[in-house]
Amino acid sequence: MAIKQTKTTEKNQKTQTQKLKVEKSLSQRKEIKKVSAQSAKNNVTNKTTTQTRHMICIMCPMGCSLTVKVDGENVEVTGNGCNRGVVFAKEEVTCPKRIVTTSVKTEHGVRSCKTTAPIPKNLIFDCVKEVEKLRLKDVKYGDIIIKNVLGTGVDVVVTANC
Ligand code: SF4
Repeated sequence: MAIKQTKTTEKNQKTQTQKLKVEKSLSQRKEIKKVSAQSAKNNVTNKTTTQTRHMICIMCPMGCSLTVKVDGENVEVTGNGCNRGVVFAKEEVTCPKRIVTTSVKTEHGVRSCKTTAPIPKNLIFDCVKEVEKLRLKDVKYGDIIIKNVLGTGVDVVVTANC
């Protein structure tokens, strides 16, 4: 009889331990779900909050320190000495552009060249590759060596004489 009671007690203890394990696992899962939900909520919140960027205006030697606040499509610029800084900052946060300077191979050696206007930053390396493909005879200062490079509407011109 005593042996039977002991077995029953052991069985009850095992069942209770298993119950506790299940409860613990459930509470852990609930906690993970809660944290995930909070994290997702934070991500959504971050997308809608204002971003602040600091940059130097490169439009003239003054080099004004610009503070740019981007809130969706609204761009607010401060620190600019003139309106060109605003134009620069807005372009910098939407579609940054740069003038590309590189060199072209000719029969008389290598000559420097550059784009006549800034092109999108993501096209800089492709533009350099286009210039690298060229092997020119005679070139002089101002010659257009690539017209409308990569469909940008910008030309590449020579900036030095042979
Ligand atoms: S904001 Fe105007 S003054 Fe300042 S660096 Fe740019 S172009 Fe020059």
